[in-house]
Amino acid sequence: MNEIKIFSPATVANVACGFDVLGFCLDSVGDDMVIRKVDKKGIRISRIEGFELPYETEKNVAGVSALAMYNAIDVDFGFEIEIYKRIKPGSGIGSSAASAVGSVFGMNELLGRPFNKTQLTEFAIKGEALASKCEHADNLAPALFGGFTLVKSVVPLKILEIPCPNDLYATIIHPQIEIKTSEARAVLPKEVPLADAITQWSNLGSLVHGLHTSDYDLIKDSLKDVIIEPHRSKLIPFYNEVKNEVLKAGALGASISGSGPSIFSLSKGLETAKTVKEAMKTVYAKSGIDFDIHVSKINTKGIKIID
Ligand code: ADP
Repeated sequence: MNEIKIFSPATVANVACGFDVLGFCLDSVGDDMVIRKVDKKGIRISRIEGFELPYETEKNVAGVSALAMYNAIDVDFGFEIEIYKRIKPGSGIGSSAASAVGSVFGMNELLGRPFNKTQLTEFAIKGEALASKCEHADNLAPALFGGFTLVKSVVPLKILEIPCPNDLYATIIHPQIEIKTSEARAVLPKEVPLADAITQWSNLGSLVHGLHTSDYDLIKDSLKDVIIEPHRSKLIPFYNEVKNEVLKAGALGASISGSGPSIFSLSKGLETAKTVKEAMKTVYAKSGIDFDIHVSKINTKGIKIID
């Protein structure tokens, strides 16, 4: 096998009370990529469609993670990467992570799987660091493992796979505005009141328990963020309106996806997820801001080979 085509999924990180640790994988949104073995040694990005991104290997996250893996192996051939990008860069649903995991997943398949998924995440972290200026795995882990993942620690890298109920769907609205990561970081508090910290870790513990036991009521009761959301939501137009309306429409909860501007909600069942989509649409249709909305089952498989 000299060539492989893959689907690299979008992901939601910073899941409410799980800021910086909890993420999940989407089904209906993602990039396609082709990874090819070639005679010429090294890593080359040969094609990019969808959005303008750098072709230079060292400036593209797919190239940087590929190089991290390439430098760890000893082969007398190289790899070419094609990126068919559908996840808009900077939208807050893991555009850079999809590219970072795509190249290393594809190369690993062509090499006969010498690396496990945690090792692939280590390589992908190097690519992701190019986009976000820090080493983190909260979008990479769900993209590679699928479902919900909890990054227990980055050094050493420890990823936990959290099971989730079968009938769990996400609805995500992406307002077409730009929020600079630096701005999203700058609004975060340096210190947290103990009472808020207690509420947050109690919610995260019970959310993980609710996911394990398919307890939708507990998930609903736990999908809350008292630390980050009050600050970052101010950067997202109509955030409170969207949240109020999706809760009225039957969603289990809603919060900021990644560092925004996307807002995600979780629902029990496809029908409710679609009703939530209409509720989001109604709020944003009046805003004058362009947007798109995705409805997706939680993708429990993660990145996959297609064709
Ligand atoms: P997201 O959360 O959607 O991944 P980021 O802001 O973390 O958004 O990353 C997007 C940044 O990374 C942009 O500046 C983009 O130019 C850069 N970048 C480099 N290579 C890629 C790639 N292959 N896919 C997406 N973004 C890339």
